[in-house]
Amino acid sequence: MAEALIIVDYTNDFVADKGALTAGKPAQEVDTRITELATEFAARGDFVFLPTDIHVAGDPYHPETKLFPPHNQENTWGRLYYGQLAKWYAAHDDDSNVFAFPKRRYSSFAGTPLDQWLRERRITSVHIVGVCTDICVLHTAIDAYNLGYDITIHADACATFNPDGAKWSLDHFKNTLGATVVSGK
Ligand code: ZN
Repeated sequence: MAEALIIVDYTNDFVADKGALTAGKPAQEVDTRITELATEFAARGDFVFLPTDIHVAGDPYHPETKLFPPHNQENTWGRLYYGQLAKWYAAHDDDSNVFAFPKRRYSSFAGTPLDQWLRERRITSVHIVGVCTDICVLHTAIDAYNLGYDITIHADACATFNPDGAKWSLDHFKNTLGATVVSGK
């Protein structure tokens, strides 16, 4: 049965030192592991999805405008993938099992065709990685739970701004969403 790796928001704005809304070093430290997982999933014929925030600066109708500085605007450096993942994506963006797509909310399922793409491919198991553990990874996992997917969270490939948020989220994934939380190979 095919599985999916969902790499959430691993862009310069969330990861790089100069990113507009960066989680900084903890986010940079998971670059290698995220890229390893992408390589593994793609090579064995599983699927890699890269849902990525997209915003218009100052959009008066978007709820994040009041909450965060402008980030991940279309056609900006901030919205490009960070580090090793950027190189990996450049080499794999034409692969038939690699899909990058925009999202406008925290969850990768909100207002996107992700659920349909997964169901069309008979995928029932999703592996979620990226940033931020307690925001977009969390909301994506909650929707995956509500839609009936088996969930694996790779703790060594997720990162966030604050350690308390990371710890709370990892407990929540396991104890409340029934996810398998793994770390290491
Ligand atoms: Zn956003």
